[in-house]
Amino acid sequence: MNLKSAYNLIIAEKKAREGIAEQKYRKALLTYPLLLSAEKKVREAILDGTEKDIALAEKNKREVIIALGLDEKEFTPLPVCEKCGDSGIFEGNYCECVKKRMAKESINSPIPPFTFEESDLSLFRKDKELAERAYETMRIFCAKFPHTKNVNLLFIGNAGTGKTFLASCVANELERQGRNVLFLSAFRFNDICLKYHTSFDNARTDGLNAVIDAELLVIDDLGTESILKNVTKEYLYTVISERMNAGRHTIITTNLNESMLEARYGERIVSRLFTTRACLTLALTGEDLRR
Ligand SMILES: [Zn+2]
Repeated sequence: MNLKSAYNLIIAEKKAREGIAEQKYRKALLTYPLLLSAEKKVREAILDGTEKDIALAEKNKREVIIALGLDEKEFTPLPVCEKCGDSGIFEGNYCECVKKRMAKESINSPIPPFTFEESDLSLFRKDKELAERAYETMRIFCAKFPHTKNVNLLFIGNAGTGKTFLASCVANELERQGRNVLFLSAFRFNDICLKYHTSFDNARTDGLNAVIDAELLVIDDLGTESILKNVTKEYLYTVISERMNAGRHTIITTNLNESMLEARYGERIVSRLFTTRACLTLALTGEDLRR
């Protein structure tokens, strides 16, 4: 991928985010007559009011939004890149975010093509209710993203219980919303960390930075990678910690339960990353859907 294509991606994602926000606003206008009348007053003021009238009408609209318990950020999303406001251009050149995006695309794995719309929960014969709850929780998560209660999500279950399936639904939905999503197998993640750890190239930071910067990072099938000394545990901790500090979301899928995670990665990682209030654990049972 070159800079021009990375730039195009950033513009396309910006448009997608604006489209989603507009849809949400239209829906809110139809749902709340108070908001609709506040919006009409703003438009009237813009047509034939003074600047003061416009400011007043907008202030009133904001108050209505708050009084209704709605979130203004849903309707006018903040730019992902503060530097260029997601225009991709800063001081006449491609912005830093375009270069970062290019680095990300070079390590990104394709997201498995599962979506909420096409997910068939009747596959979960034994634990259909559990699956339905998990899917509902994650649908709400996507609708609220990035303003969610939990930043870390852990999907636990045996092989074939639909963890990767659910993580893919979330990743695809957020990508559709114009979010910067990175989907990596645990093996791939390990590989990126190893490259960073062992190379002295100036560009070595690009891959790891892309992992830290993505708005949603999925690490799929944690526990299937090999434990590399000074790399696997250390970088897992650092990457997720840094992402947590920046309020960025991470989904980890694994076959391991909490005590197995602790045995493999150590108490520090499990207590900091997976057992805090910032982490939501969804257990997806033991039945293998592929049988
Ligand atoms: Zn930028």
